[in-house]
Amino acid sequence: GKRINNAVTNAISNEQTDYETTVQSMLKEIATALLENDVNIRLVSRLRENIKNTLLSNANVNAKFTNAQTKKLIQKTVFDELCNLVDCEVTSPFQPKKRQSNVIMFVGLQGSGKTTSCTKLAVYYSKRGYKVGLVCADTFRAGAFDQLKQNAIKAKIPFYGSYTEPNPVKVAKDGVDKFKKEKFEIIIVDTSGRHQQEDSLFQEMVEISQAVKPKQTIMVLDASIGQAAEHQSKAFKESADFGSIILTKMDGHARGGGAISAVASTNTPIIFIGTGEHIHDFEKFSPKSFVSKLLGIGDIESLMERFQTVSDQDDAKNTLENIQQGKFTLLDFKNQMQTIMKMGPLSNIANMIPGMGNMLNQFSEEETSKKMKTMVYIFDSMTKKELESDGRIFIDEPSRLVRVAKGSGTTVFDIEMLLMQQQMMARMAQTTKQMGGLPTKGGMPP
Ligand code: GDP
Ligand code: MG
Repeated sequence: GKRINNAVTNAISNEQTDYETTVQSMLKEIATALLENDVNIRLVSRLRENIKNTLLSNANVNAKFTNAQTKKLIQKTVFDELCNLVDCEVTSPFQPKKRQSNVIMFVGLQGSGKTTSCTKLAVYYSKRGYKVGLVCADTFRAGAFDQLKQNAIKAKIPFYGSYTEPNPVKVAKDGVDKFKKEKFEIIIVDTSGRHQQEDSLFQEMVEISQAVKPKQTIMVLDASIGQAAEHQSKAFKESADFGSIILTKMDGHARGGGAISAVASTNTPIIFIGTGEHIHDFEKFSPKSFVSKLLGIGDIESLMERFQTVSDQDDAKNTLENIQQGKFTLLDFKNQMQTIMKMGPLSNIANMIPGMGNMLNQFSEEETSKKMKTMVYIFDSMTKKELESDGRIFIDEPSRLVRVAKGSGTTVFDIEMLLMQQQMMARMAQTTKQMGGLPTKGGMPP
C-alpha cells in the first residue's frame, strides 16, 4: 500500500523531465506493489496497459503538466482502473422480496467464515424488517450446529438444525420447509466446507441447492487466501453458480488483492465485507473504499459510514463535508474521537485511521481508552476558535499550547502528539479531495 504511494512520489520527485519515462517507471513500481498485494499477474498487465494508454494518449498535453499535476493524474488513473476491475456491475442484482420466502445459500471452504457471515447477513436483513431464519446444513463438522445456534441466539434469530440427522440435504430441506410454512421471508442455509475442494463437497452442494432452490447463492471468500482466490472461485462457480461474494477477514493483514481476481474471473460482485468476528463487523462493499485500502489511503468512507450510524448526524455530516473540501479541523477530530469511543471495539476502528492503528497497536485496550480520554480532555480545554481551526494556530501562538496543557492536566507534548495526528488526517483529506472526493452515497445493496 504505502509502496504504491511512495512509488508515485519517488518517480515524480526524481525531476524527470521526460513524461513518458516518468510514466513507465512509475507503472513498473506500481505493478510490483500490486503483485505484492496478491493482485493477479494477468490483471496487473492489463491494468498497466490501460493506464499506459490513458496516460500516453494525451502525452502532448500532459507533457506540459507540472509534477504535481502529473502525480495527481497518475494516482487518479490507477485508482479509477482498479475501481473498474472490482466494481462488477450486474444487470439484475438479487433483491429479496417481502412476503415471499427468499432462500439464500452459503458456500465456501471450511474456515472461510460462512457460519459467521450467515448470522451477520441475517442480522442485516432482520434490522431492515425482514423475518429471517437460519438453517444449519453442516452435518460434517462436529459442533457446527452448536456454533450456528450460539450465534443465532446471541443475534435473536430463529434457527433450525439437527444433532441426529446425518444427511445435510435432508436437514436443509426440512429447515427450509419449516420456515417457509411459518412465512419466513429470508431463509439462510449454511453449508459445510472441507479444507480442500473435493468432489464430494461439490456434489453435496449441488444436492442441497437442488433441494432448497435458493434465490441467491453466496460464496464466502477469505481475504487472506491471496492468489488462490481465482482458482477457488472458478471451481465453486462451476458447481454452485453463486451470484455474489462476501469477502471476510478484511480486518487482518490482507488487503484482499486476491479478491480482485475472484471478481474478474467469475464476473460476480462482492456485496459485503467481514471486518471482524462480531455480528456488527460487517459492511457493505464499496469499490472505492476497497481500492483505497489496497492502495493504503485509509478507509475514510467506511469510517464515515459507521459514524453515520452511531454519531450525531450533524457532526458526521459536517465532518464529511469538510473532508470533501480537503479540510479536517480539530473539531472534526474531536467529534470523530468521541464517536469512536462510542463505537468500540477500539483497535478495530483505530486501524481504519491512517497512523492511528500503528500508534494504538502498541498499547492495550485499557491504555488505549485512557489515551483517548486524555485527548478528549485536551479538546475540552480548547476554545471554539481553536477547535474550528486547522491546528496551525498553535504553531503560530505556542502560548496556547501551554494554556491548553494546564487546562486539561496534560503536557505540551501530549497536545503536540494530538496535533500531529490531526495534521495527518488533514493531509489525508487533501488526498481524498485530489482523488475526486468521497464517493456519493449509493443505495443499499440487496
Ligand atoms: P466456516 O467454517 O466457513 O463456517 O467459518 P466460520 O464462520 O466458522 O469462521 C472461521 C473463523 O473465522 C472463526 O474463528 C470466525 O470467528 C472467524 N471469522 C469469520 N469472519 C471473520 C472476519 O471477518 N474477521 C475475522 N477476524 N475473523 C472472522
Ligand atoms: Mg461453518
